[in-house]
Amino acid sequence: MLIETHAHLDYPDFANDLEDVLRRATDAGITRIITIGTSVESSRRAVDLAEKYPNVFAVIGVHPTYVEKAGEDVMTPLRELAQNPRVVAIGETGLDYHYLPSAKVAKEKQVQVLAGALRTETDEEIEAQIHDGAYKSKQASLFQQQLDLAVELGLNVVIHQRDAWDDTLEIVRPYTDKLRAVFHCFGGSLEQANEVLDRDHLVSFTGIVTFKNGAAVREVAAQVPLWKFMVETDCPYLAPVPFRGKRCEPAHTRIVAEAVATARGLPLEEVAEATTETAEKFFRFK
Ligand SMILES: [Zn+2]
Ligand SMILES: [Zn+2]
Repeated sequence: MLIETHAHLDYPDFANDLEDVLRRATDAGITRIITIGTSVESSRRAVDLAEKYPNVFAVIGVHPTYVEKAGEDVMTPLRELAQNPRVVAIGETGLDYHYLPSAKVAKEKQVQVLAGALRTETDEEIEAQIHDGAYKSKQASLFQQQLDLAVELGLNVVIHQRDAWDDTLEIVRPYTDKLRAVFHCFGGSLEQANEVLDRDHLVSFTGIVTFKNGAAVREVAAQVPLWKFMVETDCPYLAPVPFRGKRCEPAHTRIVAEAVATARGLPLEEVAEATTETAEKFFRFK
């Protein structure tokens, strides 16, 4: 028995064979699947799926890399959607500095340098740095608003964080004791994991624990307390070995749990039982 705590079932990748995908998950012992919204539209689709399938539940929110496409007021539609009893948390929300506007310009510059063109700092680069600041503050603002909404509704939060650890923690810190968060697709150090676990938050692990270059994450998954983490796939991304590079799906949660169990030297059943109970407490299914 396992709970897939982070899937994107509303993505077009699953449009043609969702029923088969869900059946394979059931066959693999996945009793519940949490489908995660990344925009207002995606959150609406997540709620629709959760209403249609009894073992699917929805988390609704706006992903940090979608903030520029988000409308003026995303809180009103999110608040409305959250009234649905199939909604079990707010997210995914957080900060993602991986693809900043300046990084894109820097990459283009690199191409030009390789092509032999002469380079000095361009207006374009200066402008990109200004855009970085605006982009980061828009992410921070929407993150904070979603944390406030979660407190207002008494829901927990699914956090997406990439290359923005310190800023993310700074924003979450005032919410300690008001809500619990899961730092999904955890890829940090054991010290970073403990930093959030000490504040009663959780981490969750994806198929990265099966990757050849995933030794550091595997080690963290082996070390964190058994009752402080959950398992997920983040499908359609991050398919575990031996499916790496293919479309990922919720059935692969089992492979993730097996890899964590092996890393900890435990039978799969023990990891399954602990992570399922942790997820039940965190999402409080109705
Ligand atoms: Zn994410
Ligand atoms: Zn995700």
